[in-house]
Amino acid sequence: MQATEFQASSEYLNDETRIVRVRGELDLYTAPEFERALEQNRAADGRVVVDLRECTFIDSTGLGILVKADRRGDPDALLIVASGVEVLRAFKVSGLDRRLVLHPTLESALNGGAITGWRDMEARTQALFRVVNEEIECLDKDFGADGRDRLICECGNPDCTQPIELTRGEYEHVREYANHFVVALNHENPETESIVEQNERFAVVETYAGAPSQIARETDPRSQHHLRRTQPAAAEGGDLSDRSASSVDRLALDRRHERKPLERDRRRTLYRQLNTQQAALCREFALDHERELSIKVVCECGLADCMTPIEMPLSEFEAVRAVPGWWVVSSAHGDELAGSIAGRRDGYALLKDAPPRGR
Ligand SMILES: [Zn+2]
Ligand SMILES: [Zn+2]
Repeated sequence: MQATEFQASSEYLNDETRIVRVRGELDLYTAPEFERALEQNRAADGRVVVDLRECTFIDSTGLGILVKADRRGDPDALLIVASGVEVLRAFKVSGLDRRLVLHPTLESALNGGAITGWRDMEARTQALFRVVNEEIECLDKDFGADGRDRLICECGNPDCTQPIELTRGEYEHVREYANHFVVALNHENPETESIVEQNERFAVVETYAGAPSQIARETDPRSQHHLRRTQPAAAEGGDLSDRSASSVDRLALDRRHERKPLERDRRRTLYRQLNTQQAALCREFALDHERELSIKVVCECGLADCMTPIEMPLSEFEAVRAVPGWWVVSSAHGDELAGSIAGRRDGYALLKDAPPRGR
């Protein structure tokens, strides 16, 4: 991949707003050019928007210049627009995302509506659960389950795994809008969303305009072709059909739930992905680095309709996840699948995959 040539330019959008656009890698070598652009036609008052959307990397030199620029004015004088993963990560790792005001789009910077840590996390949590529900719905469709689908509450609380029941028609209706989410009753957050529909089983919420809505739209699986709805396991662990074939013997033991092994494998792979991403979010947004963080994950047994929550220390979950072929299941479901239990812990059990074959 060829690196973008570094560029930093400064221009006035209007009388009180100047925009400094940065392209490419902002590091020790390119920082002086950025600093010159930042200083260029600097007025005594007015605000500066630093647009980092095309910036592919920022190191401590670049961050240092921003901190210095931030120090001189009032809090609204320096606005930063950033959307790249690498750049956002740099802000998060350094803790500067809590000190400087970051915006996902230029529009948001000019009209207010910054991403704050918790709002960003809530919006991403919602997006994550939406992807999971899309997959569950897809599974149920493929395997001919009828009536209502059991889905997961899409509220912004990362610890919530409450199941909710919707008919396919109801679910499809929610998915018509990129900023609509389906949540359990009383799980809405009035600070970021409003209820547009409600019945005795669930509520449909609409996220407010601004940063949360922006994230909701950007992550909408129905408007992104790169999220392949039919293959939840594609991103992890290789070819799904091979995996299923190799674990048929063990899954055949599961007589109580007479489902096809392929479905079970897809379901647990989906929950494993969900749990892994939850843990990553939890780690990324951890504000208090001193405290031992705990995480609520979903049972990875893959049995139909099981969404049993399991609470455990985050570091413990990460340690388990680091072992290929291990799954976290609730103690009760560990009993049902006793043949492949690798270990038992307080409140959960570890399920071990059959050794990988030819992979
Ligand atoms: Zn919820
Ligand atoms: Zn389970």
